[in-house]
Amino acid sequence: MKIKISNCRDPKNCMKCIEICPAKIFVLKPMGTKKLSNYVKKWEIRAIFKDLCNGCMECVEICPEKCIRIEF
Ligand code: SF4
Ligand code: SF4
Repeated sequence: MKIKISNCRDPKNCMKCIEICPAKIFVLKPMGTKKLSNYVKKWEIRAIFKDLCNGCMECVEICPEKCIRIEF
């Protein structure tokens, strides 16, 4: 199972994928950057524990920006 997230513009104010995923595989994390001042300004959604994904597609359906792709 591959989970791809792209073009998620405002994850901190959305988080719908995090809330809906029954397997809780998504996390919100600060984006990696060398500038400490940017560290808490930019956030991203990461898919961890991908092996727990059951393929329900709820994250894909709820994402308002069509950012998530699940590949079987
Ligand atoms: S397909 Fe279902 S289990 Fe897999 S990441 Fe999306 S919401 Fe979670
Ligand atoms: S549901 Fe979509 S837009 Fe919202 S945080 Fe998740 S990936 Fe980003």
